[in-house]
Amino acid sequence: MGRCISVVVPCYNEEQALPYFIQEIQMVAAEMAQKGVELEILLVNDGSRDGTLGLLRDYAAQYPNVRYLSFSRNFGKEAAMYAGLEHARGDYVAIMDADMQDPPALLPQMYDLLQTGEYDSVATRRVSRKGEPLIRSFFARMFYKLINRISDADIVDGARDYRLMRRPMVDAILSMKEVNRFSKGIFGWVGFRTYWLPYENVERVAGETKWSFWKLFRYSLEGIIAFSTAPLAIASVVGLLVCLAAAVALAVVLVKTLAFGDPVAGWPSMICIILFLGGVQLLTVGIIGQYLAKTYLETKKRPIYILAEESQDKE
Ligand code: UDP
Ligand code: MG
Repeated sequence: MGRCISVVVPCYNEEQALPYFIQEIQMVAAEMAQKGVELEILLVNDGSRDGTLGLLRDYAAQYPNVRYLSFSRNFGKEAAMYAGLEHARGDYVAIMDADMQDPPALLPQMYDLLQTGEYDSVATRRVSRKGEPLIRSFFARMFYKLINRISDADIVDGARDYRLMRRPMVDAILSMKEVNRFSKGIFGWVGFRTYWLPYENVERVAGETKWSFWKLFRYSLEGIIAFSTAPLAIASVVGLLVCLAAAVALAVVLVKTLAFGDPVAGWPSMICIILFLGGVQLLTVGIIGQYLAKTYLETKKRPIYILAEESQDKE
């Protein structure tokens, strides 16, 4: 009974990159076959608007080792990864992008690293951010520092979603049913022994990235909300500090008035204080609102994705 690696590939509008990808991954499949390991390629169409689904149908018909799932609309990469993990049948599961920024050629090496028996997962991190705008790299680095400080989710700077895991880790990830999924956090949170394999950043082979700076920024906020309640604690600390400051100010004003008398003055300072307090209150309510919104969405227990189509089983 040979071993099997499932390769989960989220695809959103990847008709330009997929032909390169399928060629490369089939070469890796041939290489792994020599080690007695079978590859199952599980392509997940995340509601693409281009010819991606057509390509997936063709590949599934053409190659016995290709399967696909297709969503009813775009649910996001997180949902696509979850669906892939759920449907993967391998003893090992890899997650990789369709644009070859996660070099498929690293897979044999990752598999060998797992064979030493010392690790449950081999994950990749970019050591360079070549070809990326400078401010984006800067904010990315700030984000990793921050989230590691305020959460249990151990996230490595430059970590990619590209990784190979043993079955127990896959099952642990699947047991986390949250709708607001932040995989970088989930991978770290479930624990297990992970080997970090560094590699040079590669630019996507064709097509365009789906991530604008603003989308990435929002994604990082989601990550913080999903894995840390520190902002809530900060809100109460700020509240406490403002109360203390108010008590001191009150004492000062009282003493001043009693000792020196006080002609009516101080309108500018009053306005500053009112605006400041109004700002602090709105900010705090906003933070609570963010958590409330997430809680609301989680309590609905909606499915993480909806399938519209999948490949036929090949006996
Ligand atoms: N992706 C997806 N759903 C989305 C956005 C992206 O499945 O809503 C897939 C995409 O097809 C690719 C991977 O996620 O395989 C990474 O996307 P992209 O290359 O745009 O991100 P980047 O590499 O720039 O971070
Ligand atoms: Mg990419």
